[in-house]
Formats: sequence, C-alpha cells, structure tokens
Amino acid sequence: MENPVQDEKYVVFRSCLWALLQRCPGCSKPCHAEIAHRSGSMIKVNRDCDYCEDTNSWTSQPMLGEIPAGNILLSSAIMFTGASYTKTLRVLNSMNIATISTRTFQDHCKKFLHPAIYHMFLDSQSDILRELRSMDGGLVLGGDGRADSPGYSAKYGSYTLIELRTKKVVHMQLVQVSCSVQWCIANFETAVVLLSYLYMSYHIYWATFCS
Ligand SMILES: [Zn+2]
Repeated sequence: MENPVQDEKYVVFRSCLWALLQRCPGCSKPCHAEIAHRSGSMIKVNRDCDYCEDTNSWTSQPMLGEIPAGNILLSSAIMFTGASYTKTLRVLNSMNIATISTRTFQDHCKKFLHPAIYHMFLDSQSDILRELRSMDGGLVLGGDGRADSPGYSAKYGSYTLIELRTKKVVHMQLVQVSCSVQWCIANFETAVVLLSYLYMSYHIYWATFCS
C-alpha cells in the first residue's frame, strides 16, 4: 500500500464518481452501484452486474486497521496544524463534503493523537537530556505557565521549562495555578542532569499566581 500520507487525495463529486462506478470492471457494461456503507469521509460501494453477474466492492480509501485512512489523517492534520476542528468541519460540511463528526475527531485525539504526541515528546525529551548531559554548565532553565488568563478562574494550567541555551522544551507539567514554580522544579525528573545553574524567568502574569 502506498504511504497514505504521501498519497495524493482529491475532492470527487458523486456524479463524476458514479460515471465511473456504474460501469462493470469485468465486462465494461453498465452495472448497479450503491453505497453500502459510509464512515466519515470514506464510502464503500457495492456493484452488481446483470450481464456477467459479477459482484464486487470498492472503497474510496485504504484502511489503517479498522479506520479509514482519510478519517484519521484529517484528524491528525487538524490537530498537528493547530487548526480549529469546529471551523474545519464546518467548512467541509458547508461544501457538502462527507467528513468525520466532532465526536470522531475527539475519539481520534483521545485514542491515537494525544498518546502519539506524548510518546514523541518522551522520545524527544530523552534525546534532549542525553544532549544536555554531554554539555558543560548543567542546566539553564527558563519557565512559564499558561492558564485561563481572562477571568483568572482556571484551576489548572500548564507549566513549561525551556533550556535557554538549546532553546528546547525539556519538560511540561499540568499544575494547579496555585502551585509554586518550585513544585514544578521538584517534579522535574532530572536526576541524571546536574542543576548547577538555575535561572527562572517568568512574567508578571505567572508571578500573580505564585504570590
Ligand atoms: Zn459485467
């Protein structure tokens, strides 16, 4: 199977597709075609030929396990480009392009995309720590937190630590906004790295939560 990411995709109108599918692949005579199943952006079409009595099925997308490739790729593209899924799906729906539902997108995020991001981050973090271990001067860290700023009402926020020389994120943590910066540091598993110099820079907004 061709790489589903590299494989070029097209927007195909039903009328154009039916001009192809209502032709028997065996004897090339007209045949009956009907959509047997639709799953998000994928359709499965069954064809019956009265002339050569051939029956066959055709699907519009390759399958990745039990998931149509186009569906999981669409969820991935939305997630990894930082696009809004509500706006993206609204655009597709406004053109009457068959697409996934919001629930499917959220299901993909929970089951596949978030775990994939997490594992990629752990792999990347191991590489970064290995690189830092070979550098002199220990760690030079800067940290900052993000939470619900408009109303100062969030219970949780994310706190991110960046190694300032390599400019790479070495750790992220979900924290309560009332937690201290030191809490984040204490939970940062850097037993293998010498913390000879620690530099924390956080702007006024975060300092408000620390006070
Ligand atoms: Zn036929």
